[in-house]
Amino acid sequence: MHNIYGYTLEELKSLFSPSFRAKQIYNWLYICYENEFDKMENLPKSLRQELARDYSAKNLDLIKLEESNDGTKKYLFKTFDGHTFESVFLKMKDKKKNENNQVIEGEKYTFCLSSQIGCKVGCTFCFTAKGGFVRDLSVGEIVEQVVILKRDNGLAAHKRVNIVYMGMGEPLHNLANVAKAIKILSELDGLSISARRQTISTSGIAPRIKELGELNLGVQLAISLHAVDDALRSRLMPINKAYNIESIINAVKEFPVDARKRVMFEYLVIKNINDDLNSAKRLLALLNGIKAKVNLILFNPHEGSEFERPEIDRVKKFADFLIQRGLLATIRESKGIDISAACGQLREKENNGNFNVRARKK
Ligand code: SAH
Ligand code: SF4
Repeated sequence: MHNIYGYTLEELKSLFSPSFRAKQIYNWLYICYENEFDKMENLPKSLRQELARDYSAKNLDLIKLEESNDGTKKYLFKTFDGHTFESVFLKMKDKKKNENNQVIEGEKYTFCLSSQIGCKVGCTFCFTAKGGFVRDLSVGEIVEQVVILKRDNGLAAHKRVNIVYMGMGEPLHNLANVAKAIKILSELDGLSISARRQTISTSGIAPRIKELGELNLGVQLAISLHAVDDALRSRLMPINKAYNIESIINAVKEFPVDARKRVMFEYLVIKNINDDLNSAKRLLALLNGIKAKVNLILFNPHEGSEFERPEIDRVKKFADFLIQRGLLATIRESKGIDISAACGQLREKENNGNFNVRARKK
């Protein structure tokens, strides 16, 4: 059984003739969110039967959904081979100007997707790392997360969403699948989420950043930097021993950045570890000459973690220091913190079958 969400429009055109059938299938899958081939009325019965026999549009089982009081939702999915992973739906207030130049309040949706089940990188502060690595997600499994989140939240096809690959896994360790998913998500006959609205967050695998740049997808890049010196970064992220800060900065300097965009540097602020102004000063020097923005993330402690959450005043001082010197810096809102659903803070709760499941129709 093949996952139907794993195919580009071109691929479907070559699989089904006449080629306009591919567009019709895309329309059912990505505009109508239909996941039963039998209901795809404008397809001939024989094609519907062929699709149902060889393909599936229901590959992920939604087994648990948690909703935070700020509207953030955490989805726990089960794969066909029995593994679980999570995606997060984030809703933020957004101010836009309408045609009369009036400011109107809108909503902005961001989907935080997983790219792997578990992760090989093993950062010492990360929940995902605790469970080790299971496997890469397939192209279809990456794309299907978006379809389910859009459908479940009643977001019509034309509603804009942003994608961040900041759930479970290291996207650059699954680059081929993530790159193809980015293309499928951006198909104009489908979900039409332009690559500019999709951000890959990486722990900094320098040669893969180069490869990603060479693919010229137009995707946004975020680097999980977290430390300004190699000794500390290697303690937080052992992968730094293979790809140190200098190698990452060099790779970023060669990365094709959209003229309107910046490379995001994520900096996980940890109490008494990297929250001092001297670190801010070194960060400023390190990013000199790069079109960068810094996103300060407050470390979210978890059971057994050796690190602590920083004081918000110190984080604000850190941010102000950068801003006053001309570097764009923001503090990431800890959305969904009551359900530990902020990006990168996902972890399967004890999977002993006793989920507090809210029954959901697929
Ligand atoms: N593997 C990729 C993407 C997934 S992690 C990466 O590391 O960039 C997404 C983000 O969440 C990363 O910046 C990661 O460092 C951060 N993160 C992980 N654990 C966290 C925690 N306990 N508190 C706050 N942020 C965390
Ligand atoms: Fe993997 Fe990212 Fe977690 Fe590091 S922070 S272990 S790279 S998911």
